[in-house]
Amino acid sequence: MTRKNKDMAPIGDGCQLFPPWGAPDQWREANAALNHLMAIHDKKLNSAIEAARAIGDRLKWLFPLLDTLCDETCPHCPDPCCLSAKIWVDFKDLLFLHLAGHPVPQVQLIADTGSRCTCISHRGCTLPRLSRPWVCTWYLCPAQTARLRRRPASNQTLFRDTVLSIKSLRNRMEQDFIQAVR
Ligand code: SF4
Ligand code: SF4
Repeated sequence: MTRKNKDMAPIGDGCQLFPPWGAPDQWREANAALNHLMAIHDKKLNSAIEAARAIGDRLKWLFPLLDTLCDETCPHCPDPCCLSAKIWVDFKDLLFLHLAGHPVPQVQLIADTGSRCTCISHRGCTLPRLSRPWVCTWYLCPAQTARLRRRPASNQTLFRDTVLSIKSLRNRMEQDFIQAVR
């Protein structure tokens, strides 16, 4: 086993490739690199920023429905998903936060695949909804999926179409960003 930096995950037997930027110095470096790229290519980022803002708008369309589903299920949950979920901020998540100007978590959400999300508290998630990884928004557990199926068709359509739209916008945001900074 080798470890070149005290903040870096060990490399060797049991090497963990995920999550990206799991060590604090790697997280700081990734965020600094994005800030630098955005500063030197700011004139070419309009399209990526527009996509990021459109993602934020669509996320807000979902939140009232998600809050309702959560209120109906989470307070009585026998096995809260966030306690065992292996969730991290991926590149598109981080790009969205930077481009749309939303708060960035202080550290990657898990340091390694054996860790618990740093944002879980006894009152639920401490991150604002807009700052959570995309998977934390689109994932509905079985109890919530069943509740959604019992709601009006308009709610189901809203959820399905908005999730598809956000997925597409995230791809566009990433492509536009890469095109702008290459
Ligand atoms: S989303 Fe589902 S599994 Fe997760 S805490 Fe709420 S009820 Fe439990
Ligand atoms: S970021 Fe929040 S919602 Fe997502 S796994 Fe962590 S505690 Fe749960």
